[in-house]
Amino acid sequence: MLSVAEAAAKILDLTPLPTEVEPVPLDTALGRILAQAIPSPLDFPHWDNSAMDGYAVRYADVQGARADQPRSLTVIETIPAGRSPTRPVGPGQAARILTGSMLPAGADTVVMQEVTQRSGDRVLVLAAPEPAQFVRHRGSYCRAGDPLMAPGLVIGGPELAVLASAQCSEVPVWPQPRVAILSAGDELVTPDRPLRPGQIVDSNQYALAALVRQAGAVPIPLGIVPDQPQALSAAVQSALAQADVIVSSGGVSVGDYDYVDEILADLGATLHMRSVAVKPGKPLTVATFAAESGHAPLYFGLPGNPVSALVTFWRFVAPALRKRSGRAAGWGPLFVPAVTHCDLKAGGQRETYLWGRLEMAADGYRFELAGGGHNSGNLINLAGTNALAVVPVGTKLVSAGETVQVMVVG
Ligand code: AMP
Ligand code: MG
Repeated sequence: MLSVAEAAAKILDLTPLPTEVEPVPLDTALGRILAQAIPSPLDFPHWDNSAMDGYAVRYADVQGARADQPRSLTVIETIPAGRSPTRPVGPGQAARILTGSMLPAGADTVVMQEVTQRSGDRVLVLAAPEPAQFVRHRGSYCRAGDPLMAPGLVIGGPELAVLASAQCSEVPVWPQPRVAILSAGDELVTPDRPLRPGQIVDSNQYALAALVRQAGAVPIPLGIVPDQPQALSAAVQSALAQADVIVSSGGVSVGDYDYVDEILADLGATLHMRSVAVKPGKPLTVATFAAESGHAPLYFGLPGNPVSALVTFWRFVAPALRKRSGRAAGWGPLFVPAVTHCDLKAGGQRETYLWGRLEMAADGYRFELAGGGHNSGNLINLAGTNALAVVPVGTKLVSAGETVQVMVVG
């Protein structure tokens, strides 16, 4: 049985990076992953401009200005934002300028209006600026041809601002991985059905589809598959035809009706692991199929218990989806140290994940264990979970007040 760290590393090794670039319109690029470096088509700023409302001047004219020794200049024009200056500023002259306006030829410095007094076409400068003060020089942020953004970046609001400024109306992104979701089990029904004795609702289908979407991939919900080898085989083959990654839940234990591993082997998959020393979630199957036309699907057979399915998804599947999406970094889960507010108990044999809430307090992070039973069949106390405390192998108790590593999932 692999350790959690070994399994996680192996899964990332098995996960390919995307290769084909997809161009998308700028207004649909939110959340997508940049696939190519974007070189700047322009200098930023595009021209010398003013950082203040004030007057564009020649520094030599205002050097040494003081309230009791002001310098008097002739105002030759006003340059509003969006218009070009019409005349150069000569000795003894100034141009009224507004924030973002182009600096006129001849001027090299901006005096802010708070240290001036205007009267008709004259302006008194009452304090000396620094040379070149309040001038944003052309190309000082970035030069045409410089890289603006590197591939692998997640496109959010700030990145959209940069892309728009660079007039990048079509953005090269990686295709989102398509993830088929299957729920295996004779006892499962959809939520709209009355429950007969022994039946339960297929909650994993909904939870896993949501987590797939949150990981930046596209869920393909394929529904419930009965515990029959032929039905399962047909469902896996149909999933293979439409997805890059297949996530099934249920049917991977060693029970009489657990056929997933057998079927994967029959379909020619290579099984890389069948169990991991993690609690909840010990039975975890990871398999790969041979590449067909450049596409090598990855299979995750998660345990059926609702908590086990979510914990193994967060710990093992989500990092793989982030890599498969083309992110340059940040695949693995985020762990932060937090002080636990109550005792955390574990068996000591397997790395144990206990669900609850991570809160930010004035003195750092705190972890609050969810109330109620911490067994993998109890999904009721999962609501509100944004973090999992990790109790390492060999530890049976982390006492209240001690620091524990917490995996952020919300
Ligand atoms: P299995 O991994 O198939 O042995 O299932 C373990 C437990 O998880 C059983 O109690 C199942 O009823 C439950 N289970 C399996 N699949 C699902 C599902 N899709 N949604 C909710 N519970 C499930
Ligand atoms: Mg089952």
